[in-house]
Amino acid sequence: MTFNDLNITPAILKALTKENYTSPTPIQEQSIPAVLAGRDLLGCAQTGTGKTAAFSVPIIQLLSEQQVKPGSLRRIRSLILTPTRELAIQISDNIQAYSQFTQLRCTAIVGGVSQKVQERALNQGTDIMIATPGRLLDLINQKRIDLQYVQILVLDEADRMLDMGFIHDVKKIITKMPAKRQTLFFSATMPPEISKMVKSLLVNPVKVEI
Ligand code: AMP
Repeated sequence: MTFNDLNITPAILKALTKENYTSPTPIQEQSIPAVLAGRDLLGCAQTGTGKTAAFSVPIIQLLSEQQVKPGSLRRIRSLILTPTRELAIQISDNIQAYSQFTQLRCTAIVGGVSQKVQERALNQGTDIMIATPGRLLDLINQKRIDLQYVQILVLDEADRMLDMGFIHDVKKIITKMPAKRQTLFFSATMPPEISKMVKSLLVNPVKVEI
């Protein structure tokens, strides 16, 4: 199996080749077609399995295929929530690499960074936002971020977000975006609180387990 077999567009294939990705990992093989088909996804996978590309490659493809009027303000069309600043930056770096031959822009919003720097990025507009819940909620409450154009939500390492006490913030953030959207949910474990969220957030999800 190659990325070509997964109907990845030339711009993304070129980037993957440049990154020396020759063939998809098992989670990518299962997730990419499901996400491209617009399905919700429940992934039980650890970091190190190629999880980041499994969700970000099809997101980049879906968003880059949408026609956006040249010169119009970029809206956040995909939001990726992740527990730590390090993960957010890692995901953002990967998305930059995979989308380098597209017109998309991505921005990481994390705590511990000067809000001025992040505001500059926000003022320019962004298509894909990667964020830790606390800082994002601050910016939403300050009306600096509008999530009403989000089409695809990713919850990465949901069980860790629960352990770190972020679930309340995550639930609040989710109320700020359209109910009609695609949701991709990743968690290595399924404690009761997480299964409850899965049931309430996902519609007929494709299940991927590695
Ligand atoms: P992740 O699980 O997303 O943190 O990915 C783990 C590592 O595998 C990262 O360094 C990725 O750059 C790399 N990686 C992901 N997918 C592939 C692939 N299909 N081929 C080669 N390396 C990959």
